[in-house]
Amino acid sequence: SQNWDKEVDVLVVGSGAGGLLTALVASKNNADVLIVEKDKLWGGTSATSGGGIWIPGSDLARAAGFEDNLDEAFTYLRALSADNVPDANIQAYVDNAAPMLRWVTDNTQVQYDAVPYPDYHAENPGGSTRGFRTHLPRTFDGKQLGADIRTQRFPSPAASLFGFLQWTFAETNELLYRSKGWFTHLTINMARYWLDLPFRFTSGKDRRLTLGNSLTGGLRLALNERNVPLWLESPLTELVRDGDKVTGAVITHNGKPMRIGVRKGVVLAAGGFDRNQAMRDENAPLYPTAKISGGVTSNTGDSIRAGQAIGAKTMNMQSTWAAPVFYIPGEDRGRLCTIERALPGCIMVNQKGERYLNEAASYHVTGQLMAKREHEHGDASPSWMVFDYRYRHQFPMGPLYPLIPDWAQRGDVKLVLKKAKTIEELAEQMGVDPTRLSATIAHFNEHAAKGEDPDFHRGEAAYDKMYGDQRNQPNPCLRPLTDAPFYAMPVYPGDIGTNGGLLTNAKAQVIGDNGQPIQGLYAVGNNAASAMGESYPGAGVTLGPAMTFGYIAARDMTGGN
Ligand code: FAD
Repeated sequence: SQNWDKEVDVLVVGSGAGGLLTALVASKNNADVLIVEKDKLWGGTSATSGGGIWIPGSDLARAAGFEDNLDEAFTYLRALSADNVPDANIQAYVDNAAPMLRWVTDNTQVQYDAVPYPDYHAENPGGSTRGFRTHLPRTFDGKQLGADIRTQRFPSPAASLFGFLQWTFAETNELLYRSKGWFTHLTINMARYWLDLPFRFTSGKDRRLTLGNSLTGGLRLALNERNVPLWLESPLTELVRDGDKVTGAVITHNGKPMRIGVRKGVVLAAGGFDRNQAMRDENAPLYPTAKISGGVTSNTGDSIRAGQAIGAKTMNMQSTWAAPVFYIPGEDRGRLCTIERALPGCIMVNQKGERYLNEAASYHVTGQLMAKREHEHGDASPSWMVFDYRYRHQFPMGPLYPLIPDWAQRGDVKLVLKKAKTIEELAEQMGVDPTRLSATIAHFNEHAAKGEDPDFHRGEAAYDKMYGDQRNQPNPCLRPLTDAPFYAMPVYPGDIGTNGGLLTNAKAQVIGDNGQPIQGLYAVGNNAASAMGESYPGAGVTLGPAMTFGYIAARDMTGGN
């Protein structure tokens, strides 16, 4: 009935992990698939991420000696998620996550390991203190991508060493503690990068892809092998609805509108409204600043609005994957602050110079508490990470690396970093009451020396301890701040993306105003309201569901395996 410029079985909007996986499963099930990406780079925030996925009951966990229980996983997620998230959505995730990972393992070069990374609320009923629900990708040889490696999103500065060397989670630990052989390993990796001449000059990249680059790289290779097209700079602008069904979409391609008809469906996988200031102002008052989000700049909620325009419902639009972020002026994104807060020799204070949270809790809990504090008292954005000389030369703090002296830091880093010989002078520089900050540190130090934090219980939970320094006893997260000079670095209540969005059912179908699914329209990843509600149960609960619901959507549309 429509005069389309092109027809396909399945149109996938967005090239993050959710979109790529959906497209791949649909293609394997013999659908004719087209992926459209708004940006000139593909991979989305997924490519810049850790690539971790939270998968209960995986074969890999079993092989590693962890016998998971899916009922426990459901109990754990259900209690943390929001009341408005249907049981069926959580159950669909729990039931399909491990089959999805098995499918990826069998059908692509993307290979994961189950890791002993505790759940973020491991002590809750059904939580895992041992971990093995979080899975991390192995490295991937990016050379196999040919020219497409040049248009892959670069890893985030927080996930690459010196801004170019891609690094695995295990290698981060090795560097952090400079364990035996670390220097040789680092030197070999640097040499490998520098000597990889033709490749480095043509791609500007480390060919050894890790973390989110490895995940999206491996998925892209599998798509290329099936000749599935991915069009860059081709944003979705509109959905076409006919009665209770979406029949196609309008995109911009080569600068012109193009109408694409779909025989089976449109899958919206275009991320959240991370970088849309107006949508934040309207929906997410606790997370007001688009520019400090860790999400990529092209995630501006276009496809959420396109859904709304044809009568789709939304849910939990106030919510984000909250996180403390460092923001270096001039950078296009906030830098996620993950490991620093748990390490001994630092604290976080508000603008009054008081601690107000357990620094070592998950980034999500920390980010939520910071946002709440800022909302209620107006003194937490920025907050300050305060640390001593010993910390400075042992561990990283955002853009600061140990062993690299202060004078060698970039100018814009020096601009935000405070440094002084005494706590009082540091407080002056921070604009904080010196007496208050001194009292806070004296009180903290007294208890930290005994490995105790009576105020906020830092270092007691399994998750806190994991990122602590195991050599530091009795509590791997606590040590008094004693060695001058002292430092302070601002840290903001930010996020790594929004996670409210289009309302979907257990099949990832988008729900319309009448409460019924709109036929032919699916949403996955941050484009959809998360099954996690406003919680963050463990590392990988954003990408795990993005891929799992993509797997579900693709199979629902194509009826295949
Ligand atoms: P994205 O990966 O952001 O992809 C969306 C794509 O859609 C983008 O390429 C965008 O350009 C495109 N797009 C936008 N609008 C349009 C349009 N109109 N038309 C066409 N395309 C459009 N999560 C985890 O689970 N595990 C981790 O280890 C992890 N680590 C992280 C580390 C960092 C430093 C950061 C910042 C985040 C991390 N996250 C992690 C969060 C995770 O990266 C995101 O939640 C996830 O990538 C979202 O995936 P997505 O497919 O929904 O969106």
